[in-house]
Amino acid sequence: MSTTTASPLPWNRQIDWLGMVPFFAMHLGCLAVFWVGWSWTAFAVAFVVYAVRGMALTGFYHRYFAHKAFQTSRWFQFLWAFIGCAAAQRGPIWWAAHHRDHHSHSDEPEDEHSPIQHTFLWSHMGWFMTEANTQLRVKRVPDLMKFPELVFINKYDGIAVLTHGLLMYGLGWALQTWAPQLGVTAWQMFVWGFLISTVFLYHVTYCINSLAHVLGSRRFITTDHSRNNWLLALFAFGEGWHNNHHYYPASARNGFYWWEVDVTYYMIWTFEKLGLVWNVKPVPEKVLELGRTNPAHGIPLGTKAEAGQPTMQTPVAQS
Ligand SMILES: [Zn+2]
Ligand SMILES: [Zn+2]
Repeated sequence: MSTTTASPLPWNRQIDWLGMVPFFAMHLGCLAVFWVGWSWTAFAVAFVVYAVRGMALTGFYHRYFAHKAFQTSRWFQFLWAFIGCAAAQRGPIWWAAHHRDHHSHSDEPEDEHSPIQHTFLWSHMGWFMTEANTQLRVKRVPDLMKFPELVFINKYDGIAVLTHGLLMYGLGWALQTWAPQLGVTAWQMFVWGFLISTVFLYHVTYCINSLAHVLGSRRFITTDHSRNNWLLALFAFGEGWHNNHHYYPASARNGFYWWEVDVTYYMIWTFEKLGLVWNVKPVPEKVLELGRTNPAHGIPLGTKAEAGQPTMQTPVAQS
């Protein structure tokens, strides 16, 4: 046991190393790729499960559970909550609670994952490793706590992670047995479809907390440092339009204009056409107009003068 007295971290900054063992094991496990090799099939499956779970996070964890940017049925919200849990980034209620906090205190000292207030590494992958931030902030999410099935999967999100891992291994085994010409093995599919795709998705998600508050352009004047980053928007299915989102978080769109690729919104739009979701919240015309005429480039960040500009204050989701 360490007895060091050299300026210990505040209690809420202490990393729960034991609890993070699976997270680091996931990263280390990716090295197994040198033993299992690769195939086009494994690569394609890894991409598909990265995209599907990624859009469960962007479309549902973020735009639905955290922001209520559209409405849907109870079974559909549970389905996507389950798929989101398979991304191994904890449950939807925990996620939404922390995200609502982020919008309330963006880049202020209370913002747990601000690269402005903390280090870049902390905002990327330090903040969620602490015991304090593992806790569920119930008061932030009374609207979600009403659903026992969501509370259950939020608590036992490991069920979805395990299911995904087994599914990948099983798929690899089936292809190895019945379609050996594809060159896939059970372990190869496990490494690509479970480990590599999950770790890649980890860091794409974390980049929204870290990079999207540091690198990119600013169309709207906001009190935080949020940026629009087209490359991040491609990898993160539209979430890279983060300055847009911080300015008007209530909309189901993060890409506000046709040239801002927002694959998550295309998914939501498709679900709306199929009748699976409804009351999809648009970006108000006056916000679009302001974005066209009032670019925020060159305006100093985080100043009171900036905060005093006529920004559209949009509350985070209400229960
Ligand atoms: Zn942000
Ligand atoms: Zn948000």
